[in-house]
Amino acid sequence: MPRAGESWGRYPRVEQRMVRLVDRDAAMPAFDGHALPHGNGRSYGDSCLDPGGTLLHARGLDRFIAFDPATGILRCEAGVTLAEIIELVLPLGWFLPVTPGTRYVTVGGAIANDVHGKNHHRVGTFGHHVRSLELLRSDGSRRNLVPGASGGWFEATVGGLGLTGLVTWAELQLRRVPGPYLETENVRFGNLDEFFALSRESADRFEYSVAWIDCLASGHACGRGHFTRADHATQLLSKRPPAPGQGLAIPLTPPVSMVNRLTLRPFNAAYYWRQPAPRKRQTSHLLPFFYPLDGIRDWNRMYGPNGFLQYQCVLPPSEAHAGIAALLAEIAKSGSGSFLAVLKEFGGRPSPGMLSFPRAGTTLALDFPNTGDSVLQLLGRLDRIVDEAGGAIYPAKDARMPGASFRRAYPRWTDFRDFVDPRLSSGLWRRVME
Ligand SMILES: Cc1cc2nc3c(=O)[nH]c(=O)nc-3n(C[C@H](O)[C@H](O)[C@H](O)COP(=O)(O)OP(=O)(O)OC[C@H]3O[C@@H](n4cnc5c(N)ncnc54)[C@H](O)[C@@H]3O)c2cc1C
Repeated sequence: MPRAGESWGRYPRVEQRMVRLVDRDAAMPAFDGHALPHGNGRSYGDSCLDPGGTLLHARGLDRFIAFDPATGILRCEAGVTLAEIIELVLPLGWFLPVTPGTRYVTVGGAIANDVHGKNHHRVGTFGHHVRSLELLRSDGSRRNLVPGASGGWFEATVGGLGLTGLVTWAELQLRRVPGPYLETENVRFGNLDEFFALSRESADRFEYSVAWIDCLASGHACGRGHFTRADHATQLLSKRPPAPGQGLAIPLTPPVSMVNRLTLRPFNAAYYWRQPAPRKRQTSHLLPFFYPLDGIRDWNRMYGPNGFLQYQCVLPPSEAHAGIAALLAEIAKSGSGSFLAVLKEFGGRPSPGMLSFPRAGTTLALDFPNTGDSVLQLLGRLDRIVDEAGGAIYPAKDARMPGASFRRAYPRWTDFRDFVDPRLSSGLWRRVME
């Protein structure tokens, strides 16, 4: 029976079937028409949805297969979440080499979107740390894939949007850490020039860096925000910051979005001025640093019944300053946007996947309540700025990018097509291939 499904952005809502997978050695389940592997549904738009098809729900493939605490090599099933990996390995002095802003994603999902983290400028993407994986195709065949030696299958599958087959297990190289704490420094900055200066200054000195910006500030204050940079704490601490507790929850979906013109401007201004000193250093547990939103359960309900759209793009270095300024001016003019707009500079390490999103340049990410035509028109105007700058939009966050923008920004889609499993598809894929 088809049933209503949605992704993290709760837009769009589609009808699809679902099959739950629990055994990595079992044959590919039978399904009518087309299907799509599914992880934990933490993508925002329609890249993890298959309207009219069947989701192959892989979260039940949740077993660890092997872990060597001497080398940090972990083999696990693809439905294991990053949260489960952290729980296993952090007490043993290991951590994820790359992590996105939520730990509730699966290994399969992290591979299929070749996700990035706050240390992209140092270590590249999640895919750079995958040593091998198994791919199950809809015809029942299995392939063991390794980087650079599997005839392009590995490079198609990393960042391959789940379209090359089902990843059943993967082997990852984790990174050593001295403990669960970070030395962080938070620097308030007044505009985009200061952001770029801080970013340049931090790249060689800090492993992690990211900025929150006030997307409604305009004129001379355009791009103002807080720049956070951090390294793993190496000192033995006499006073240990506590591990985060249970946190808050949004218990119900409010009838209208809590993020709107009335709430956004005062929240952003108050957040900007929350730290009286221009610089603040502290030692903190790594969980709230990497996963600030994981502390609020079901925060995606905050945007009301119509959901929201995330917009994440990257602009190449030569166009980044002017292009980000133009995007922010357009957003400020609209009065729409989110509490947290994130700005970060990617490093130059080429991503391993044919369709990977990360590339050298500056990435901007923010949410917009789904207000219908007005938000779609705004995002269309942002697309034009990104297209003119030669940038790219992140498929994992997208529900509406035009096919022409995708094909321009991901020119290797023509090579990638040869690796697509003929029985797998997604809402996003059909849309951008039209
Ligand atoms: C709060 C929040 C913060 C985020 N921060 C970041 C960030 O900093 N950086 C970043 O890069 N992303 C970020 N994301 C996006 C998220 O990391 C990706 O969308 C991720 O791919 C979601 O993984 P998932 O397990 O939920 O997979 P899903 O969303 O269910 O699926 C994602 C893709 O993976 C495919 N897939 C899933 N499992 C398999 C499998 N076993 N085999 C083959 N394909 C599979 C699906 O077909 C789909 O194409 C964030 C998301 C949230 C909600």
